[in-house]
Amino acid sequence: MAKVGWIGLGNMGSPMSGNLIKAGHEVTIWNRTKAKAEAVLAAGAKWADTPEAVAESSDFIFTMVSDGPALHAVILDGNGVADGLAAGKIVIDMSTVSPAESVKASKAVEAKGCKFLRAPVTGSTVLAQNATLGILASGDRASYDKALPLFEAMGKNQFYVGANEEARVLKLSLNMMIGTSMQMLAEAVTLAEKAGLDVAQVCDVIAGSAVGSPVVGYKVALVSAGQYNPAFSVKLMMKDFDLAFDAAKQYGVPLPITAVTRQALQSAAATGRGDKDFSVLVQVLEEQANIKR
Ligand code: NAP
Repeated sequence: MAKVGWIGLGNMGSPMSGNLIKAGHEVTIWNRTKAKAEAVLAAGAKWADTPEAVAESSDFIFTMVSDGPALHAVILDGNGVADGLAAGKIVIDMSTVSPAESVKASKAVEAKGCKFLRAPVTGSTVLAQNATLGILASGDRASYDKALPLFEAMGKNQFYVGANEEARVLKLSLNMMIGTSMQMLAEAVTLAEKAGLDVAQVCDVIAGSAVGSPVVGYKVALVSAGQYNPAFSVKLMMKDFDLAFDAAKQYGVPLPITAVTRQALQSAAATGRGDKDFSVLVQVLEEQANIKR
Protein backbone atom coordinates (compact mmCIF):
# COMPACT_ATOMS: atom_id res chain seq x y z
CA MET A 1 0.00 0.00 0.00
CA ALA A 2 1.23 3.50 -0.80
CA LYS A 3 2.24 6.34 1.51
CA VAL A 4 -0.07 9.09 0.31
CA GLY A 5 -0.27 12.76 1.26
CA TRP A 6 -3.44 14.79 0.76
CA ILE A 7 -3.76 18.57 0.88
CA GLY A 8 -7.18 20.23 0.53
CA LEU A 9 -10.21 18.79 2.30
CA GLY A 10 -13.09 20.70 0.72
CA ASN A 11 -16.22 19.29 -0.91
CA MET A 12 -14.13 17.15 -3.27
CA GLY A 13 -10.91 16.48 -1.36
CA SER A 14 -12.63 14.98 1.69
CA PRO A 15 -14.47 12.16 -0.08
CA MET A 16 -11.59 11.54 -2.50
CA SER A 17 -9.01 11.14 0.26
CA GLY A 18 -11.54 9.05 2.17
CA ASN A 19 -11.66 6.63 -0.74
CA LEU A 20 -7.86 6.25 -0.63
CA ILE A 21 -8.15 5.31 3.06
CA LYS A 22 -10.92 2.81 2.23
CA ALA A 23 -8.62 1.27 -0.38
CA GLY A 24 -6.06 0.62 2.39
CA HIS A 25 -3.51 3.37 1.72
CA GLU A 26 -1.67 5.20 4.49
CA VAL A 27 -2.95 8.77 4.14
CA THR A 28 -1.44 11.88 5.78
CA ILE A 29 -3.51 15.06 5.45
CA TRP A 30 -3.35 18.83 5.85
CA ASN A 31 -6.04 21.42 5.34
CA ARG A 32 -5.81 25.18 5.93
CA THR A 33 -8.89 24.94 8.16
CA LYS A 34 -8.20 21.99 10.44
CA ALA A 35 -11.83 21.68 11.57
CA LYS A 36 -12.78 20.47 8.08
CA ALA A 37 -10.41 17.51 8.45
CA GLU A 38 -12.33 15.84 11.28
CA ALA A 39 -14.27 13.33 9.18
CA VAL A 40 -11.19 12.17 7.27
CA LEU A 41 -9.17 11.93 10.51
CA ALA A 42 -11.95 9.84 12.04
CA ALA A 43 -11.75 7.57 8.97
CA GLY A 44 -8.09 6.84 9.74
CA ALA A 45 -5.92 9.61 8.24
CA LYS A 46 -2.90 11.05 10.06
CA TRP A 47 -2.62 14.82 10.55
CA ALA A 48 0.49 16.78 9.51
CA ASP A 49 1.01 20.37 10.69
CA THR A 50 2.17 21.78 7.33
CA PRO A 51 2.11 20.88 3.60
CA GLU A 52 5.90 20.48 3.98
CA ALA A 53 5.37 17.76 6.60
CA VAL A 54 2.85 16.02 4.33
CA ALA A 55 5.46 15.93 1.54
CA GLU A 56 8.16 14.63 3.87
CA SER A 57 6.08 11.67 5.00
CA SER A 58 4.60 10.65 1.61
CA ASP A 59 5.68 9.18 -1.73
CA PHE A 60 2.63 10.52 -3.61
CA ILE A 61 1.41 14.01 -2.63
CA PHE A 62 -2.04 15.04 -3.85
CA THR A 63 -3.39 18.59 -3.87
CA MET A 64 -7.10 19.39 -4.30
CA VAL A 65 -7.62 23.10 -3.63
CA SER A 66 -9.80 25.88 -5.03
CA ASP A 67 -7.66 27.52 -7.68
CA GLY A 68 -4.21 28.54 -8.93
CA PRO A 69 -3.37 30.94 -6.06
CA ALA A 70 -4.33 28.23 -3.54
CA LEU A 71 -2.19 25.68 -5.40
CA HIS A 72 0.77 28.06 -5.37
CA ALA A 73 0.23 28.74 -1.66
CA VAL A 74 0.36 25.06 -0.68
CA ILE A 75 3.28 24.21 -2.97
CA LEU A 76 5.46 27.35 -3.08
CA ASP A 77 4.90 29.24 0.17
CA GLY A 78 7.10 28.72 3.23
CA ASN A 79 6.52 25.26 4.75
CA GLY A 80 4.89 24.30 1.46
CA VAL A 81 5.10 21.00 -0.39
CA ALA A 82 8.25 22.05 -2.29
CA ASP A 83 10.10 22.50 1.01
CA GLY A 84 9.37 18.89 2.01
CA LEU A 85 10.21 17.15 -1.27
CA ALA A 86 13.09 14.75 -1.83
CA ALA A 87 14.02 13.38 -5.27
CA GLY A 88 11.77 10.68 -6.69
CA LYS A 89 8.45 11.74 -5.13
CA ILE A 90 5.36 12.32 -7.27
CA VAL A 91 3.14 15.39 -6.77
CA ILE A 92 -0.35 15.13 -8.28
CA ASP A 93 -2.60 18.16 -8.52
CA MET A 94 -6.29 17.35 -9.06
CA SER A 95 -7.60 20.94 -8.79
CA THR A 96 -8.88 22.86 -11.78
CA VAL A 97 -6.26 25.50 -12.62
CA SER A 98 -5.02 27.14 -15.81
CA PRO A 99 -2.15 25.73 -17.90
CA ALA A 100 0.00 28.75 -16.92
CA GLU A 101 -0.67 28.31 -13.18
CA SER A 102 0.11 24.62 -13.56
CA VAL A 103 3.47 25.27 -15.23
CA LYS A 104 4.56 27.42 -12.27
CA ALA A 105 3.76 24.62 -9.80
CA SER A 106 5.39 21.96 -11.98
CA LYS A 107 8.66 23.92 -12.22
CA ALA A 108 8.93 24.14 -8.43
CA VAL A 109 8.30 20.39 -8.08
CA GLU A 110 10.66 19.37 -10.88
CA ALA A 111 13.43 21.59 -9.45
CA LYS A 112 13.46 19.15 -6.50
CA GLY A 113 14.00 16.14 -8.77
CA CYS A 114 10.34 15.10 -8.48
CA LYS A 115 7.55 14.55 -11.01
CA PHE A 116 4.37 16.61 -11.33
CA LEU A 117 1.17 15.07 -12.67
CA ARG A 118 -1.85 17.16 -13.65
CA ALA A 119 -4.99 15.17 -12.88
CA PRO A 120 -8.14 17.33 -12.84
CA VAL A 121 -11.42 15.49 -12.42
CA THR A 122 -14.83 15.43 -14.06
CA GLY A 123 -17.88 14.76 -11.94
CA SER A 124 -19.11 16.39 -8.80
CA THR A 125 -19.36 15.54 -5.10
CA VAL A 126 -21.64 12.52 -5.46
CA LEU A 127 -19.23 10.92 -7.93
CA ALA A 128 -16.35 11.79 -5.61
CA GLN A 129 -18.15 9.98 -2.77
CA ASN A 130 -18.93 6.95 -4.96
CA ALA A 131 -15.37 6.78 -6.36
CA THR A 132 -16.76 7.15 -9.88
CA LEU A 133 -15.00 10.36 -10.98
CA GLY A 134 -13.44 10.75 -14.40
CA ILE A 135 -9.74 11.54 -14.10
CA LEU A 136 -7.89 13.36 -16.89
CA ALA A 137 -4.14 13.08 -16.47
CA SER A 138 -1.08 14.51 -18.17
CA GLY A 139 2.61 14.62 -17.32
CA ASP A 140 5.29 11.96 -17.00
CA ARG A 141 3.87 8.64 -18.30
CA ALA A 142 5.85 6.40 -15.94
CA SER A 143 4.62 8.41 -12.94
CA TYR A 144 1.06 8.12 -14.24
CA ASP A 145 1.44 4.33 -14.40
CA LYS A 146 2.69 4.29 -10.80
CA ALA A 147 -0.22 6.47 -9.64
CA LEU A 148 -2.89 4.53 -11.55
CA PRO A 149 -3.94 2.28 -8.61
CA LEU A 150 -4.54 5.46 -6.59
CA PHE A 151 -6.61 7.00 -9.37
CA GLU A 152 -8.59 3.75 -9.61
CA ALA A 153 -9.51 4.07 -5.93
CA MET A 154 -11.14 7.45 -6.66
CA GLY A 155 -12.49 7.22 -10.18
CA LYS A 156 -14.24 5.03 -12.70
CA ASN A 157 -12.57 6.32 -15.87
CA GLN A 158 -8.93 7.35 -16.18
CA PHE A 159 -7.50 9.00 -19.28
CA TYR A 160 -3.84 9.72 -19.92
CA VAL A 161 -3.91 12.58 -22.46
CA GLY A 162 -0.34 13.85 -22.87
CA ALA A 163 3.04 14.70 -21.40
CA ASN A 164 2.44 18.34 -20.46
CA GLU A 165 -0.61 20.58 -19.76
CA GLU A 166 -3.10 18.69 -21.98
CA ALA A 167 -5.29 17.59 -19.06
CA ARG A 168 -5.73 21.21 -17.93
CA VAL A 169 -7.05 22.31 -21.30
CA LEU A 170 -9.35 19.29 -21.69
CA LYS A 171 -10.83 19.88 -18.23
CA LEU A 172 -11.64 23.49 -19.15
CA SER A 173 -13.21 22.35 -22.44
CA LEU A 174 -15.48 19.98 -20.53
CA ASN A 175 -16.52 22.58 -17.98
CA MET A 176 -17.39 25.04 -20.73
CA MET A 177 -19.83 22.46 -22.09
CA ILE A 178 -21.26 21.72 -18.65
CA GLY A 179 -21.82 25.42 -17.92
CA THR A 180 -23.31 26.25 -21.30
CA SER A 181 -25.57 23.15 -21.08
CA MET A 182 -27.02 24.59 -17.89
CA GLN A 183 -27.79 27.94 -19.53
CA MET A 184 -29.52 26.04 -22.35
CA LEU A 185 -31.51 24.07 -19.75
CA ALA A 186 -32.47 27.37 -18.10
CA GLU A 187 -33.76 28.77 -21.38
CA ALA A 188 -35.71 25.60 -22.27
CA VAL A 189 -37.30 25.25 -18.83
CA THR A 190 -38.15 28.94 -18.52
CA LEU A 191 -39.87 29.08 -21.92
CA ALA A 192 -41.98 26.02 -21.17
CA GLU A 193 -42.76 27.22 -17.64
CA LYS A 194 -43.87 30.70 -18.79
CA ALA A 195 -46.14 29.00 -21.32
CA GLY A 196 -47.86 27.23 -18.43
CA LEU A 197 -46.22 23.80 -18.35
CA ASP A 198 -45.34 22.03 -15.11
CA VAL A 199 -41.62 22.42 -14.31
CA ALA A 200 -41.16 18.95 -12.83
CA GLN A 201 -42.74 17.33 -15.88
CA VAL A 202 -40.68 19.49 -18.25
CA CYS A 203 -37.54 18.38 -16.38
CA ASP A 204 -38.55 14.72 -16.66
CA VAL A 205 -39.15 15.04 -20.39
CA ILE A 206 -35.83 16.82 -21.00
CA ALA A 207 -33.87 14.34 -18.86
CA GLY A 208 -35.33 11.44 -20.83
CA SER A 209 -34.81 13.02 -24.26
CA ALA A 210 -31.89 13.12 -26.69
CA VAL A 211 -30.49 16.13 -24.80
CA GLY A 212 -30.79 14.42 -21.41
CA SER A 213 -27.05 14.26 -20.75
CA PRO A 214 -25.71 13.01 -17.39
CA VAL A 215 -25.25 16.58 -16.14
CA VAL A 216 -28.88 17.42 -16.96
CA GLY A 217 -29.87 14.24 -15.12
CA TYR A 218 -27.92 15.29 -12.02
CA LYS A 219 -29.50 18.75 -11.92
CA VAL A 220 -33.20 18.30 -12.75
CA ALA A 221 -34.09 17.45 -9.13
CA LEU A 222 -32.64 20.79 -8.00
CA VAL A 223 -34.45 22.63 -10.78
CA SER A 224 -37.79 20.91 -10.07
CA ALA A 225 -37.49 21.74 -6.37
CA GLY A 226 -36.17 25.27 -6.98
CA GLN A 227 -33.48 24.52 -4.35
CA TYR A 228 -29.89 25.06 -5.38
CA ASN A 229 -27.65 23.69 -2.62
CA PRO A 230 -24.13 23.65 -4.01
CA ALA A 231 -22.43 20.62 -5.48
CA PHE A 232 -20.42 22.92 -7.77
CA SER A 233 -20.78 26.61 -7.05
CA VAL A 234 -21.40 29.54 -9.39
CA LYS A 235 -18.11 31.06 -8.17
CA LEU A 236 -16.09 27.96 -9.12
CA MET A 237 -17.78 27.77 -12.51
CA MET A 238 -16.98 31.45 -13.14
CA LYS A 239 -13.35 30.70 -12.26
CA ASP A 240 -13.26 27.85 -14.78
CA PHE A 241 -14.84 29.99 -17.51
CA ASP A 242 -12.25 32.69 -16.91
CA LEU A 243 -9.46 30.10 -17.13
CA ALA A 244 -10.99 28.89 -20.41
CA PHE A 245 -10.92 32.46 -21.77
CA ASP A 246 -7.24 32.73 -20.79
CA ALA A 247 -6.49 29.50 -22.65
CA ALA A 248 -8.62 30.61 -25.62
CA LYS A 249 -6.59 33.83 -25.83
CA GLN A 250 -3.37 31.83 -25.66
CA TYR A 251 -4.46 29.51 -28.49
CA GLY A 252 -6.46 32.07 -30.54
CA VAL A 253 -9.91 30.46 -30.31
CA PRO A 254 -13.24 32.41 -30.15
CA LEU A 255 -15.74 31.13 -27.52
CA PRO A 256 -18.99 33.04 -28.23
CA ILE A 257 -21.50 30.83 -26.40
CA THR A 258 -19.21 30.47 -23.42
CA ALA A 259 -18.98 34.28 -23.27
CA VAL A 260 -22.77 34.69 -23.07
CA THR A 261 -23.05 32.05 -20.35
CA ARG A 262 -20.30 33.81 -18.36
CA GLN A 263 -22.56 36.88 -18.22
CA ALA A 264 -25.44 34.76 -16.90
CA LEU A 265 -23.15 33.38 -14.17
CA GLN A 266 -22.19 36.99 -13.35
CA SER A 267 -25.89 37.83 -12.91
CA ALA A 268 -26.22 34.92 -10.50
CA ALA A 269 -23.20 36.05 -8.48
CA ALA A 270 -24.22 39.73 -8.52
CA THR A 271 -27.61 38.84 -7.08
CA GLY A 272 -26.16 36.96 -4.11
CA ARG A 273 -26.07 33.47 -5.59
CA GLY A 274 -22.31 32.96 -5.97
CA ASP A 275 -22.25 30.11 -3.46
CA LYS A 276 -25.30 28.35 -4.90
CA ASP A 277 -25.04 25.46 -7.32
CA PHE A 278 -24.45 26.73 -10.86
CA SER A 279 -27.81 25.24 -11.92
CA VAL A 280 -29.25 28.35 -10.20
CA LEU A 281 -28.93 29.82 -13.70
CA VAL A 282 -32.51 28.51 -14.12
CA GLN A 283 -33.75 30.66 -11.23
CA VAL A 284 -31.92 33.73 -12.59
CA LEU A 285 -33.60 33.41 -15.97
CA GLU A 286 -37.00 32.69 -14.39
CA GLU A 287 -36.72 36.03 -12.60
CA GLN A 288 -35.72 37.81 -15.79
CA ALA A 289 -38.83 36.31 -17.42
CA ASN A 290 -40.91 37.54 -14.43
CA ILE A 291 -41.75 34.05 -13.21
CA LYS A 292 -42.26 33.73 -9.44
CA ARG A 293 -42.05 30.28 -7.88
P1 NAP B 1 -13.98 23.72 -1.91
O1 NAP B 1 -14.98 22.85 -1.23
O2 NAP B 1 -14.24 25.19 -1.97
O3 NAP B 1 -12.56 23.45 -1.17
C1 NAP B 1 -11.46 24.24 -1.51
C2 NAP B 1 -10.23 23.73 -0.77
O4 NAP B 1 -9.12 24.59 -1.10
C3 NAP B 1 -10.36 23.77 0.76
O5 NAP B 1 -9.66 22.69 1.31
C4 NAP B 1 -9.68 25.10 1.09
O6 NAP B 1 -9.20 25.17 2.41
C5 NAP B 1 -8.53 25.06 0.11
N1 NAP B 1 -7.93 26.38 -0.10
C6 NAP B 1 -8.49 27.46 -0.71
N2 NAP B 1 -7.63 28.49 -0.71
C7 NAP B 1 -6.52 28.06 -0.07
C8 NAP B 1 -5.29 28.68 0.24
N3 NAP B 1 -5.01 29.95 -0.11
N4 NAP B 1 -4.36 27.95 0.89
C9 NAP B 1 -4.62 26.67 1.25
N5 NAP B 1 -5.77 26.02 0.98
C10 NAP B 1 -6.71 26.72 0.33
O7 NAP B 1 -13.72 23.28 -3.41
P2 NAP B 1 -14.02 21.87 -4.08
O8 NAP B 1 -15.43 21.86 -4.55
O9 NAP B 1 -13.50 20.79 -3.21
O10 NAP B 1 -13.11 22.01 -5.41
C11 NAP B 1 -11.70 21.79 -5.37
C12 NAP B 1 -11.18 21.87 -6.81
O11 NAP B 1 -11.83 20.85 -7.59
C13 NAP B 1 -11.45 23.20 -7.51
O12 NAP B 1 -10.37 23.52 -8.33
C14 NAP B 1 -12.68 22.89 -8.35
O13 NAP B 1 -12.77 23.73 -9.49
C15 NAP B 1 -12.45 21.44 -8.72
N6 NAP B 1 -13.66 20.65 -9.00
C16 NAP B 1 -14.76 20.76 -8.20
C17 NAP B 1 -15.88 20.00 -8.49
C18 NAP B 1 -17.12 20.10 -7.64
O14 NAP B 1 -18.17 19.61 -8.08
N7 NAP B 1 -17.10 20.70 -6.46
C19 NAP B 1 -15.88 19.12 -9.57
C20 NAP B 1 -14.72 18.99 -10.34
C21 NAP B 1 -13.61 19.77 -10.04
P3 NAP B 1 -10.18 25.66 3.59
O15 NAP B 1 -10.97 24.43 3.99
O16 NAP B 1 -9.28 26.15 4.64
O17 NAP B 1 -11.07 26.74 3.02
